[in-house]
Amino acid sequence: MSLSDDQLIHEAIEINHASVGRASTLDRYESHLVHFSQYLASAHGRTFYSAQKKHVRLFMGHLEKKGGADPHPSRLRCEWCKARGYPNGRSGEGWSPSYRKSYLSALRFLYRHFQAEEDLPDLDPTVLETSPKLILRRGYTPSREEVKRLLGTPGTPKARLLVHWMFYAPSRLSTFSDAKWPDLDLDAGTWEVVGKGDQVDIFALAPPLLRELRIYQRWQLSEAERNPAIRDALSDPETAYVLLTTTGRRTMPQSVRKMLKWHAVRAGVGVVKAKGRWDAPRKVTSRVSPHAMRRAWATLALNDEKDPKPIDVVSEVLKHKEISTTRRHYAPTKPERAQAALIGMRI
Ligand SMILES: [Zn+2]
Repeated sequence: MSLSDDQLIHEAIEINHASVGRASTLDRYESHLVHFSQYLASAHGRTFYSAQKKHVRLFMGHLEKKGGADPHPSRLRCEWCKARGYPNGRSGEGWSPSYRKSYLSALRFLYRHFQAEEDLPDLDPTVLETSPKLILRRGYTPSREEVKRLLGTPGTPKARLLVHWMFYAPSRLSTFSDAKWPDLDLDAGTWEVVGKGDQVDIFALAPPLLRELRIYQRWQLSEAERNPAIRDALSDPETAYVLLTTTGRRTMPQSVRKMLKWHAVRAGVGVVKAKGRWDAPRKVTSRVSPHAMRRAWATLALNDEKDPKPIDVVSEVLKHKEISTTRRHYAPTKPERAQAALIGMRI
C-alpha cells in the first residue's frame, strides 16, 4: 500500500524526523512540498515515490525560470505555477537563491522521512542536488583607480568636497545633507554625526578631506560676501549647513546624490545610459552613489595589500550593528587574504 503525496506530506510534517523547531518553517516546507508534488504530477506524471534525481533537478531548475506574463516553458508545465499565475520571487524573475534553498531543504526533509520510516522505500533523489548558491547582488563598487579618478577630477567646490567627504568619511547620505559647521571641528579634525536615537558618532577627518573642507569653507565664505542668503544662514548655528544652496537652505539629499553623479560622469566613472531621466545631462548618469563610496572605502580598507583593516574595525566605521552586515553588503573578504593569512602564520 502506498500513500498519496498529500498523506506523505502530512505524515512527514507531523512526525518531523528532522526536529524542525519552528512552526513557520514547517508551514513553509508543507507548501513547498505541495508545489513539488503538483509539479511532479503535472510535468512528469510522477509521485514522491517515483521521483528520480533528474526530476528534482528539473524542479529546482523550473524555480529559477521566469514566470509572469510570458513564462519560461518549464514553468508552463507546472500545474501549481499555472494555478497561481506563474508567480515570480520578490526580486525579479523566478525565485531567489535563498528561496530555492528553502525548497531544497523541504525536499530533503521529505526524503529524510522516507529514510527514517521502515514502511517507506529507502530513496532520496535529492542526494546529488547542490544547494543554490546565495548570490548577494552587491552594489556597484568603484575600484581604487576609479576612486582616485573621482578625487582627482576638477569640479565645482561642492562636488569636490562631496566626493572627498563621502569617501574619507563614509557615512550615510542624509548625514552629509544634515551636517552643519558647528558639527565639524577642523582643528581637531572631527565630525560629529548625530544618528538614530540621538546617538553621536564621531568621524575622524583624514588629511585630504580636511584640506578639501578648508578650501570649500573659504569658497563658501567668499560666496557669502556676495550672497546675503548664504551669509544669514551661516551666521546662525541652527542653519549653518555645510552644503547650502544659493538661497541659503540645506541641500536636499536627492540633490547631493545628483551632484555626486554629475561629478562621476565628468570623471568618467561608472557611467551608464540614463533611462529617460530629465535631469541627466547628455543622457548619461553614473552608478556612483553615496553607498557606492561607502562600499569602496570598506572594500579598499579590508583588502589593502600593505595594511588590511580588520572587519570589526570596518564595521565600526560604517556603524553597522552586526559585523555580518559588513561582510555581506559591503566587503567580501577576498580569498587571497585567507591564503596570505595561512601562508603568513609565524610563531
Ligand atoms: Zn511550479
